[in-house]
Amino acid sequence: MSERLLEKLTTIVGVNAIITDADALAPHLTDWRGRYRGDALAVVKPNSTEQVAAIVKLCAESGTAIVPQGGNTSLCGASVPSEKSNAIVLNLTRMNKIRAIDLDNNTITVEAGCVLAQLQQIAHDHQKLFPLSLAAEGSCTIGGNLSTNAGGTAVLRYGNTRELTLGLEVVLPSGEVWSGLRGLRKDNTGYDLKQLFIGAEGTLGIITAAVMKLFPQPKSNATAFVGLTSPSQALKLFNQLRANCAERLTGFELISRVCLDFVLRHIPNTVDPLATPYPWYVLVELSESAASLNAGDMLEQELGVALEQSAAVDAVAAKSTAQGRALWALRENISEAQRFEGASIKHDISVPISAVPEFVTRASAALAAAFHGIRIVAFGHMGDGNLHFNVSRPLAQSDTEFFAQAHRISEIVHDLVHAMNGSISAEHGLGQLKREEIIRYKSKLELDLMRAVKRAWDPLGVMNPGKVI
Ligand code: FAD
Repeated sequence: MSERLLEKLTTIVGVNAIITDADALAPHLTDWRGRYRGDALAVVKPNSTEQVAAIVKLCAESGTAIVPQGGNTSLCGASVPSEKSNAIVLNLTRMNKIRAIDLDNNTITVEAGCVLAQLQQIAHDHQKLFPLSLAAEGSCTIGGNLSTNAGGTAVLRYGNTRELTLGLEVVLPSGEVWSGLRGLRKDNTGYDLKQLFIGAEGTLGIITAAVMKLFPQPKSNATAFVGLTSPSQALKLFNQLRANCAERLTGFELISRVCLDFVLRHIPNTVDPLATPYPWYVLVELSESAASLNAGDMLEQELGVALEQSAAVDAVAAKSTAQGRALWALRENISEAQRFEGASIKHDISVPISAVPEFVTRASAALAAAFHGIRIVAFGHMGDGNLHFNVSRPLAQSDTEFFAQAHRISEIVHDLVHAMNGSISAEHGLGQLKREEIIRYKSKLELDLMRAVKRAWDPLGVMNPGKVI
């Protein structure tokens, strides 16, 4: 049966667009963190919506599960099959064309497999901005960004991927194609179907193309690295900058000293931007759209006020684009640097922005009391109330010993998040990692509604089984 299916799939995509060899399959079956390893009949790489539709129809007929995959940078095991699976991995990276750009409408219609950095570059080439930005942008795809409702470092000004999306084209689990590629800012004609696919992690259909918003390019940007005593001081600085700079405040990233130490230790060509070490830092980005104003001048002025009013202890502003990039590299390399420090457990949480300092204090105290020597690696998008509240194993412990405590560690963090009206997955999704855990935190009614949507959309359960719910 699987032989016949493979033959038919080959007929659809051609012999060069199907992978069955074990070595070539391996990178598609393992997630970015190396925590999940699955099985699949094949990786299939269509290059058109018609091919995707034909593949999905075939899989629906034979009851074959489909795991959609873009750049495979999911941090929660969403983009790889489960163990002992007879699924196919449907890799969209060959579907990477720009279908249209409408400069007057400020929209771009792009296929799902387009790599995010390419989309940013194409927007830039047309003197526009596509603002979604995250450390995996060199390999993640717009289809993956949509399916995880990716956030990143400019949400404060531009919103999550959901807010950047006007229309979608989706191949439904039946193989039918829903064409909702509309570039409308206003469209109240019933249920907004695209919203269900955004953030669904491939469990409701295959996104094949999207209409995304473009923005004017900022006329000036300014970046600063600010030394702080505590997350409470970071909140004070945040409130000052929001009040005085409004929407110009584009990025506000909290970084603990532990994170900076990891980066300086493991990432080549990085230097501490401040002469004195501080327990906390914030990376601030301002962007100005008006030609008559300058983001650099505004940031200098605001940093002066912050130092005067004890909303900061020390600060350095980038004097050039290269210096700005070097400051951002300190933030963007934290996940990479953490890999060198042994086993880690990641928490992608959000709480109201006002509650971030209290969360950090209480969660750090609870973990330190329960797990001697645990290293807290806290950083992230504080301007969105979203922290990557990660922990690395104590230096004296083995990876295996540490992982044996993973459940209890996450329970302490997530129970506190829940008690503070937060979310246990702010931007990475649930995937396999949090599929069971979410049951502890969502109400029965909410879970029943999610299951009802899944049943209605995908009655055969072929779309990315074992993920989300
Ligand atoms: P994949 O990992 O391939 O897939 C992700 C999910 O989407 C899976 O469920 C998959 O089945 C589904 N999917 C993929 N393509 C489609 C499609 N066309 N149709 C339907 N379903 C599909 N995320 C953030 O939000 N913010 C960050 O700041 C951030 N930083 C990161 C930094 C690093 C170093 C890394 C490795 C990851 C980071 N991520 C971040 C997580 C990850 O990059 C995002 O979730 C990204 O959106 C995934 O895109 P992808 O193309 O790699 O998708």
